[in-house]
Amino acid sequence: MTKPRRHDNDRFHDECGIFGIFGHPEASAHAALGLHALQHRGQEAAGIVAYNGEHFRSHRALGLVGDNFSSEEVIRRLPGAMAIGHVRYSTTGETVLRNVQPLFADYEFGGLAIAHNGNLTNAYAARKSLVRRGCIFQSTSDTETIIHLIAISHYSTVVDRMIDALRQLEGAYSLVALTRENLIGVRDSLGIRPLVLGRFGEAYILASETCALDIIGAEFVRDVEPGEIIVIDDKGLRSIKPFAKARSRFCIFEYIYFARPDSVVLGKNVYEVRKRIGAELARESHVDADLVVPVPDSGVPAAIGYAEQSGVPFEIGIIRNHYVGRTFIEPTDRIRHLGVRLKHNANAAYLRDKRVILIDDSIVRGTTSVKIVEMVRRAGAREIHMRISSPPIRESCFYGIDTPDREKLLAARYDVEAMAGHIGADTLAFLSFDGLYRAVGGAGRDGENPQYCDACFSGDYPIKLSDREEGPIPHQLSLLAEPG
Ligand code: SF4
Repeated sequence: MTKPRRHDNDRFHDECGIFGIFGHPEASAHAALGLHALQHRGQEAAGIVAYNGEHFRSHRALGLVGDNFSSEEVIRRLPGAMAIGHVRYSTTGETVLRNVQPLFADYEFGGLAIAHNGNLTNAYAARKSLVRRGCIFQSTSDTETIIHLIAISHYSTVVDRMIDALRQLEGAYSLVALTRENLIGVRDSLGIRPLVLGRFGEAYILASETCALDIIGAEFVRDVEPGEIIVIDDKGLRSIKPFAKARSRFCIFEYIYFARPDSVVLGKNVYEVRKRIGAELARESHVDADLVVPVPDSGVPAAIGYAEQSGVPFEIGIIRNHYVGRTFIEPTDRIRHLGVRLKHNANAAYLRDKRVILIDDSIVRGTTSVKIVEMVRRAGAREIHMRISSPPIRESCFYGIDTPDREKLLAARYDVEAMAGHIGADTLAFLSFDGLYRAVGGAGRDGENPQYCDACFSGDYPIKLSDREEGPIPHQLSLLAEPG
């Protein structure tokens, strides 16, 4: 049988989206809507755990939110006024049901469910030590490390146990957790992954992005701060800051590609930022041309900004098929060879004999760029000038984003001129660091005190990569067979 393959493996992919709600009689229905709005952050699996004052109930499944949570029957089986949910794009652990979150465990203090976005950079070492102490892991997800560290903590309250567990872990994460009394939200000390707080009448919401508040008509209150723990119970909301203060290093790629354009991230509308990025790109590397054409959908806002700044007309010169699934079974070599045309087609009537500025948000392996440039060329474009609304990606991300190994990244192998030749463009240019920082409204990247994580461009990793420094990480399942 042909294995379904990821159709779009030439992009960075966000690992997960999380959502939590406290104090609404239809908590799970709203969680399902919130997850639906966060679907762009993970399409491989979805899950919700709800608590009704007596029992925790969960539904977790592979596939999209709409395929798994749109039936009344499923929602009816998740009663209660508290719920958390998760959409998953795996970066660690396999895509099997036992890895689908929220994960749940029974403790002496009662049940606890956790949903997590990000990646723990010392999870392997922590897991190895926990296995030696007798913990038996049920999943290959690094989130389970948190579950076991909470179980063996000597502190009495669940919040103190969670703090104790998180103090032993390194990494970039946002998480939501559900106990019998609380909804808890946490962001790592550098705030690399996003988490926002909202209000929906009397109910509280925690979500990866503000678009998950908009879908249910909830009001945005504020971003959860880096290193902050939010604890919500019947008495209201408490904020705890138990970790050493550090300068925030939010993932700058959220602005470039991950976040939905209608979300507001750290007070800035993502669509606006992307337009500013496009304008910076035009200021830095404009070339005479007839049309500005985005690679849809992610290149659209930057292309609009580029066109506005340069005065070159914007046209939808490439049409995207929105009905191509996340995975596509490509049964033969010949069909597989059709590649990107499953998803994109050139709007030839607009491209013929034109000098085209093609705007995309990033180049990862370069395989998509090669096909797109070839397609535009075959549609009759006279010149193709590729402009990329981010700096060259030269390093892998270890903070919760699915990225190829460094040696597969085109920019790690070639300089810009060679990359242009490789993808078949007449010219190629990337946004500079300074242009990117200007567009996101930062004070500029001074090299010593950047306000964002930009490690996939710069190689400056703000959180230690402890597991990697120890050498190659074996497949996590093999831990169970490792001699103690
Ligand atoms: Fe975001 Fe890149 Fe940092 Fe990963 S390495 S968190 S993708 S900026």
